[in-house]
Amino acid sequence: MKKFFLTTPIYYPNARPHVGSAYTTIVCDALARYKRMCGYDVAFLTGTDEHGEKLQRAADAAGVPVEKFVAEKRKLFTKLWDTLGIPPYSAENPAGYRFVHTSQNPDHIKSVQWMIEQARKAGYIEKKKYEGRYCIYDERYVSDSVEPANCDICGRPAELISEENHFFKLSAFADRLLELYEKQPKFVLPDFRMNEVKSFVKSGLRDISISRRRLKWGIPWPDDPEQVVYVWYDALTSYLTGIGFRGGDKPEPDFEKYWMDPDSERVHMIGKDILRFHAVYWPAFLMAANDALPADKKLPLPKTIFAHGWIYYEQDKMSKSKGNVVYPEPIVEALNSFGAPGNDALRYYLLRDTTLGHDASFSYDGLVDRYNSDLANGLGNLAKRTLDMTKRYCGGVIPDASDLNQKTGGAWFDPRVDASRKQYADRISSAYENFQFSAALELIWTFVIFYGGQGSPGVESADADGFLSAFQPWAKAADPAQHWLVNGVLYLTLEPVRAAAVFAHPVMPEATRRIWAQLGREPYLGNIEDQRFPDWKWRGLIPGKSIGVPGAVFPRLDKAASLARLKEFAEKNLGAETSIEKGTTVEQQPEGESTRAEQQPTGGTGFQPAKEDTTKTAVPQAQASADQKISIEDFAKVEMRVGQVVAAERIPKADRLLKLQVDVGGEVRQVCAGIAEYYEPEKLIGMKVVVVTNLQPRKLRGVESNGMIVAASVGEEGRPVLATFAEDVPNGARLK
Ligand SMILES: [Zn+2]
Repeated sequence: MKKFFLTTPIYYPNARPHVGSAYTTIVCDALARYKRMCGYDVAFLTGTDEHGEKLQRAADAAGVPVEKFVAEKRKLFTKLWDTLGIPPYSAENPAGYRFVHTSQNPDHIKSVQWMIEQARKAGYIEKKKYEGRYCIYDERYVSDSVEPANCDICGRPAELISEENHFFKLSAFADRLLELYEKQPKFVLPDFRMNEVKSFVKSGLRDISISRRRLKWGIPWPDDPEQVVYVWYDALTSYLTGIGFRGGDKPEPDFEKYWMDPDSERVHMIGKDILRFHAVYWPAFLMAANDALPADKKLPLPKTIFAHGWIYYEQDKMSKSKGNVVYPEPIVEALNSFGAPGNDALRYYLLRDTTLGHDASFSYDGLVDRYNSDLANGLGNLAKRTLDMTKRYCGGVIPDASDLNQKTGGAWFDPRVDASRKQYADRISSAYENFQFSAALELIWTFVIFYGGQGSPGVESADADGFLSAFQPWAKAADPAQHWLVNGVLYLTLEPVRAAAVFAHPVMPEATRRIWAQLGREPYLGNIEDQRFPDWKWRGLIPGKSIGVPGAVFPRLDKAASLARLKEFAEKNLGAETSIEKGTTVEQQPEGESTRAEQQPTGGTGFQPAKEDTTKTAVPQAQASADQKISIEDFAKVEMRVGQVVAAERIPKADRLLKLQVDVGGEVRQVCAGIAEYYEPEKLIGMKVVVVTNLQPRKLRGVESNGMIVAASVGEEGRPVLATFAEDVPNGARLK
């Protein structure tokens, strides 16, 4: 049997997962179910990344030992997977998720230390002095120079650190990595991400420091107890540990099966922000170990690393301080309370309305609309109608269409019809295969809505509803002479329902199971999860077999009422969140700081500052304590003007920077701004912003920046919110 090994990234358990992190796991669960329905032996791994000072600090602040703290945090994830109907691994459910945790797991410690020993044996590790600026909040090297620098994520001043630590010679792998990308064009997906990775490698790789002296919490360096292994070896090796790797010891059989087997497909699903580490560091770590290993022990590389985009809330990045974080639990609960399958509705919406790989926007409005159009009116309505009529007019058994076929010259059961529908099913399968969930679902719905009657002799309309209307089985049912027609028409509309249930099962496991039960009471159909995409055939329902009890699987949602309840439940849940998280931890951000951000004119209030505050927004008033106050002359030294963005583009190899051309009144300035993660360049064009115009020009990532755009730094992640104007103001006007 072919093997498929799929991983989510290991999640950082500092906060409760929101709909964005649930998205990755939902995608993986759907993919795991799909692969299983293609006959693969599937293993699916998720887990938590428990490395780092941030967790240590949070535990200290909560007065809880760090081991206990992270153990509690893991439950925030496993509980959510339960709620979302994503089952854990068990003997009965081998495709359920397995869970790995890192830093204090003895098997994992062994694996990481062993990986490092191999790299050292092969000559890729050396000890040398490191000096640089490091942000302890984001666990991130901000600059390799000793000059003061602010973290470009959170904006806080980064600490100067100097230490002797262990470096990995990443630079030695550039050619081999480029060769890998050439040989394995699907090593990174989507394609545009592969291009980013290639140009990053081509621009020159620097050796990376892979141990830390200053962290207390982490895996001890093999023979240097003063150092701990830095996050990347620790996190990435979890993909091996989680499936049974035990360093130099004999691995669990699953490791041989899912990782070592040359035919196993190993896929890492990740968010785009950690692509570099997966696509560059991880294969280099594996190659380094392999250089020290005999041929039969070499570790295969992953087959594909898929980087997905982010989920925004109504076009805006979710952030706690902004109060727009969407959590999945209240959504499921609110929809369930209307009798709708909450989990499946959420899964369907997320996978149908996002193109995997690109950023997408979540909205309650979109969720309800999508549910009503595709599920309530689309599949749900068709299933309910045909099953009800089958019960009423055909005595609750699958009707026989052979009379209809015969009387119409054999056109209905023409092998060419069967073949074309099989071909269509293969297209759906190949969309799934290429991670195109949205396209797969679109094809399925085309099949349900249009293919039900399409190509059927004597039918103009291609719509399944139109097909029913054209033949009107309800009008003919009373006439025994026309039963052959009623039977035939109903059979031919039940078939697309069966097809849709099978094809959509990976995305909506529970709702399709219910439809499946309504289609057949008898065991001949088998379990829905045991249906196989490659074996699927048109005309699988067997005439004469009893159907189950028809019932609405997707009741229609009243839009206003359901939106109100979704918002109500979300708010209630936010209130409850404090107790959920507080029981075991504290917020990452010091309490005072978030309050302060909210009190600032622009802090947390959205895109535009209040009208009367347009000039004040640029002054960091809340932060200025008495002894730090400046004179009006000092302030007058800063020249700020109204600018209008005339062009904006991303800067290659600089994930966070945008290059803007800004009209500051008769002059167009080039300004770089660290806002690329939060603003789409196209959307900035035409926008009025505040520019500091008398700063000395400087170069950022080799691009000249002549001025600075003013933005509020909001929330724990320091999300930049550009200062702008509520009224139209001329370009170049001075702010005073
Ligand atoms: Zn930071």
